[in-house]
Amino acid sequence: MKKLLVLPIFLITLTAFAQETEMRMDIEEYEPTSTLVVPEHITTSTKYPFIDVHSHLWRMGTMDLAQTAREMDSLNMAVLVNLSGRSGEELKAMVDNANKLAPGRFVVFANIDFNGIDEPGWTENAVAQLQTDYDNGARGVKIFKNLGLTVLDSEGNRVHTDDTRIDPVWAKAGELGIPVLIHTGEPAVFWEPIDEHNERWLEMKQYPDRHRGDTTRYPSWEVIMQEQWNIFKKHPETTFINAHFGWMANDLDRLGEHLDTYPNVYTEIAAIIAELGRQPRHAQEFFIKYQDRLLFGKDTYRPHEYHTYFRVLETDDEYFDYFRKRHAFWQMYGLNLPDEVLKKLYYKNALKIIPGIDESLFPNE
Ligand SMILES: [Zn+2]
Repeated sequence: MKKLLVLPIFLITLTAFAQETEMRMDIEEYEPTSTLVVPEHITTSTKYPFIDVHSHLWRMGTMDLAQTAREMDSLNMAVLVNLSGRSGEELKAMVDNANKLAPGRFVVFANIDFNGIDEPGWTENAVAQLQTDYDNGARGVKIFKNLGLTVLDSEGNRVHTDDTRIDPVWAKAGELGIPVLIHTGEPAVFWEPIDEHNERWLEMKQYPDRHRGDTTRYPSWEVIMQEQWNIFKKHPETTFINAHFGWMANDLDRLGEHLDTYPNVYTEIAAIIAELGRQPRHAQEFFIKYQDRLLFGKDTYRPHEYHTYFRVLETDDEYFDYFRKRHAFWQMYGLNLPDEVLKKLYYKNALKIIPGIDESLFPNE
């Protein structure tokens, strides 16, 4: 009797196992196609010309910028700000190349070299270098996220963003009337445990080096950001652009308080559009309230990715794809921003704080 039962049970188990194996899939492979049918407004160029204040063209000194400018035209991008200007001869070559091949279409920001910060004369040299770079055409300063996170002095001490040896550089930018675009830190979740609750788990799995949870190597997110905020407070005459919404795009009320606290600070949307696209109503309110303080930025220069930015900002479309799953596994919704807010975001605010941009590229009003 028993033997008769064993075989069918064995076969049923085997079939179930086979089916389960077929159903098994890594979450990284799961790409469900939405069956939702709703109005779509694919947006491949913007309603008004725009300035991208956050881009990186590392080889701008030798690139065919006429070709890049044609590509920019297809997006309605009037001006691209290259934050990777470095300094000295390299910076000069970039400005010269732009003047030759696509005058008026590119702006270059200078970078500061923190090597040797504890050597005598570093501060004076950095200030003099910034003057030279300005004379050669730099129209802003870009600070990379390594300051405050991984820049070390010759004894291996972390260099804080509010290190007093850098103060004269911030002051100099203010004197020259050029903004400092500063990227500090990372999304706060990079400091959280990498587990099933972490919103950027996939990114940490793919790029384990990005995790900052090792407290022996990195201070907390709050400490790193506070050092940045300290320089905003200490240098009210200098205009700062806090990159990537200051990593507060997931808490816009907090970002609003931040902007209220530091009137010399602007912020830009590079690499955080997926945060906005998941809170269209609250983000729209925020953009209307802080419309005079916001700038358009993208970061990585990949023309087709801009389309998602435009669609999130300009349309009221629902539930559409974002382009990088490790940033966001959720769908996007449009903010449907009013025209005047779009104009400020796209160009009016940038024209106020970045000197020397050709205003004739923009609607005259
Ligand atoms: Zn960047």
